[in-house]
Amino acid sequence: MTYAEFHRRSVEEPDAFWAEQARLIDWQQAPQSICDNSRPPFTRWFAGGTTNLCHNAVDRHLAARGDQPALISVSTETGVEKAYSFRELHAEVQHTAAMLQALGVRQGDRVLLYMPMVAEAVFTMLACARIGAIHSVVFGGFASVSLASRIEDAQPRVIVSADAGSRGGKVLAYKPLLDEAIRLSSHKPQAVLLADRGLAPMERVAGRDHDWAALRQAHLDTEVACVWLDATATSYTIYTSGTTGKPKGVQRDVGGYAVALAASMEHIFQGEAGATFFCASDIGWVVGHSYIVYGPLIAGMATILYEGLPVRPDAGIWWSLVEKYKVRTMFTAPTAVRVLKKQDPAFLKKHDLSSLKALFLAGEPLDEPTARWISEALGVPIIDNYWQTESGWPILTIANGVEKKASKFGSPGVPMAGYKVKILHESTGQELVEPGQKGVVVIEGPTPPGFMQTVWRDDERFVKTYWQSIPGRMVYNTFDWGIRDADGYYYILGRTDDVINVAGHRLGTREIEESISSHANVAEVAVVGVADALKGQVAMAFVVARDAAAVADEAGRLRLEGEIMKLVDSQLGALARPARVRFVSLLPKTRSGKLLRRAIQAVCEGRDAGDLTTIEDPAALRQVLDSLVG
Ligand code: AMP
Repeated sequence: MTYAEFHRRSVEEPDAFWAEQARLIDWQQAPQSICDNSRPPFTRWFAGGTTNLCHNAVDRHLAARGDQPALISVSTETGVEKAYSFRELHAEVQHTAAMLQALGVRQGDRVLLYMPMVAEAVFTMLACARIGAIHSVVFGGFASVSLASRIEDAQPRVIVSADAGSRGGKVLAYKPLLDEAIRLSSHKPQAVLLADRGLAPMERVAGRDHDWAALRQAHLDTEVACVWLDATATSYTIYTSGTTGKPKGVQRDVGGYAVALAASMEHIFQGEAGATFFCASDIGWVVGHSYIVYGPLIAGMATILYEGLPVRPDAGIWWSLVEKYKVRTMFTAPTAVRVLKKQDPAFLKKHDLSSLKALFLAGEPLDEPTARWISEALGVPIIDNYWQTESGWPILTIANGVEKKASKFGSPGVPMAGYKVKILHESTGQELVEPGQKGVVVIEGPTPPGFMQTVWRDDERFVKTYWQSIPGRMVYNTFDWGIRDADGYYYILGRTDDVINVAGHRLGTREIEESISSHANVAEVAVVGVADALKGQVAMAFVVARDAAAVADEAGRLRLEGEIMKLVDSQLGALARPARVRFVSLLPKTRSGKLLRRAIQAVCEGRDAGDLTTIEDPAALRQVLDSLVG
């Protein structure tokens, strides 16, 4: 079948198409309907069918491949390297499920994970899926305020965490950040389960905190069966940044997600049961959920869980893992490749990479020099894929598992199964059909299986934010600019909103601004994303100090910059820390008081600031420019 025909069927005959894809997973009870879009935009997939993500990821492989590796946990931070077969993973997941049950977790309860890249994190996610608890993984690099807002929103019965993470040999204690976050949140978890890696001392709260190893010991013999869940039940929530300071809980289902991942593993990633998948991301991000944990396991592949940097102990570490575990498919973000590109290319030649079939890159724009460099160095196809936390799996890429198609540098590719992608005029909502016309990338409903169900406990926000932002049109807004060429390939040209992308990580500038504003000497602040050769973008903050005398000289400016960076570090995490803080006496705004972020960003990037007819005081923009000098 040609890809064009495959895609046409997926959108024009969704019931027939997705009923076939649904056969890629196990069902306890077959779905009664395939695509129920009777109440748009709340599409329900495979309603009436019952299944379980953990069963599909683990249990169903026991008969054919019980002794094959399933989870390979590698940490170059602690030196731990351990492979779990499907049978061993099955046992660990049951121990963990029994522990969660003993701590009071029932079907539908939330379990929040704040964990480094350790096997226990994967056990916990799968254990939640097994018993129908809703997991909410918070990236371990986030700090107390970010964590607190997620605890507040998810209202977890139990939080699972660890003493510490480690990055580049530097231990980052999690427990004090977690304790502070629980203190800040009005919701308190009933229990906290703590994996002790022996990296940092932990203070225990009596009656609330439990030790992983001790509790596990008590549940070695407990068998916990999979709970058969309706396909439309909620499997997890994952928080993501938008234009407001409050992160959104992206809510995902069970059955649609399982089918979407199984289909993507076949059509896009060309997975092969028994082979190894290596996704160098983090379980705190959607890529980690879909392609470290669920996707490869559903496809019967071994998955590598990697804690560490790509350049430590040296820049050959990933390639040595490819050789050792005969990795077939690799997945990472362009930033990691840009980091490797700065190292000696000899590291790539030292290892036998003959098992590797393709490298997938996602999370941020893939620039042509990076793509060319890694493509020449590895000699395998480099496949860009564009998606979002909201979609759960690629929206645009090349489905070589259906039909081999050439990639084009600079383009992630074409729409995947079930995605009706359009380019619309930002303010009129008119569809732009001519090749090369720039507009907003949108998706027409019904959205495919695996796509977000809603915003956790906020249907109204889901509809208003995503589906009613373009005048006169009820379409899903990606908030990305894009164009399509004459061959139907799309190009993504950056966000339309105030979201920035630092090293493939999505951050809201408003959250950073709110954090900076909490400093006593900050009167006003604007944060913008500025192009960066390594990280894609970095955050830059422009601050108006309350006490101008404090920033009158270089020493004062450096002091306040340092304090602000420390503040952001402790509240949001190092990821959100601005690369630079600059001081001005007024910020560029419109006459109605709206910050002119795009103009600030343009000035920072040495571009023309665009239409400035609405600016209140042009001197503000000159100040921004002057503050950049030096
Ligand atoms: P996240 O939800 O964190 O995965 O971030 C999603 C955003 O990252 C998208 O809306 C895009 O702005 C950007 N993005 C992700 N993948 C790509 C890609 N392959 N090319 C260009 N931008 C991308």
